[in-house]
Amino acid sequence: MRSIAALKECARNKQWHRSDLRPTNLEKVEEFILQATHKEYFPTMEREASLRKLNPKLDNKGVLRVGGRARAGAKLTETQIHPVILPKNAHVSDLILQHHNEKIHHLGRRSTLTAIREAGYWLINGTGQVKRWLHKCVGCRRLRRETELQQMGELPKERLEQTPAFTHVGIDVFEPYYVKDRRTELKCWGLMITRLYSRTVHIELLEMLHGCKRTGQHHHLQQWNEHRGSEE
Ligand SMILES: [Zn+2]
Repeated sequence: MRSIAALKECARNKQWHRSDLRPTNLEKVEEFILQATHKEYFPTMEREASLRKLNPKLDNKGVLRVGGRARAGAKLTETQIHPVILPKNAHVSDLILQHHNEKIHHLGRRSTLTAIREAGYWLINGTGQVKRWLHKCVGCRRLRRETELQQMGELPKERLEQTPAFTHVGIDVFEPYYVKDRRTELKCWGLMITRLYSRTVHIELLEMLHGCKRTGQHHHLQQWNEHRGSEE
């Protein structure tokens, strides 16, 4: 629209210079673009089957709008009562569609169609047009694509064979916690031992031993092994 405004200004002044892009100029350019589109797509208004249901009318600026019985006074603006008709598959229609789809951050079909209608445009075969556009819009496709499923590896036999409790385990250490012991503060971790067959979980407090978390973990596991071994 800005490029066409610049070109029109240059043609009027017969010389190339930076044009004056006032809002009134841009409004006129919008009217000019819509008029040109309507002339190209609806040369004979009366014979256009797609327009028949819309009861079309030309406004005082020569732009083709939807007719109808609703009149100002209802809580709607004039452009919402008589929106501008946008032809199917026209480049201008696609640009308006793209603009409003991006403006609402690639929301779905209904939201895009509502945004276009609220802006004062009536897209012929709107639902189909928006659907076609959303299918090729990169932003929409990226946001709506199905999440991919990973191919999981085969389960080890320790996960499938029923063995005595905690025969095969997985271990993990989480978080440092600060635990108070009289006046001193100890840095501790949670030691999580998971049984591979049933996923039973056993959690113990892991203290730092000789200033090392790993030594503490090893010591704790030894103790725990002896304790479990004496039970079974
Ligand atoms: Zn999109």
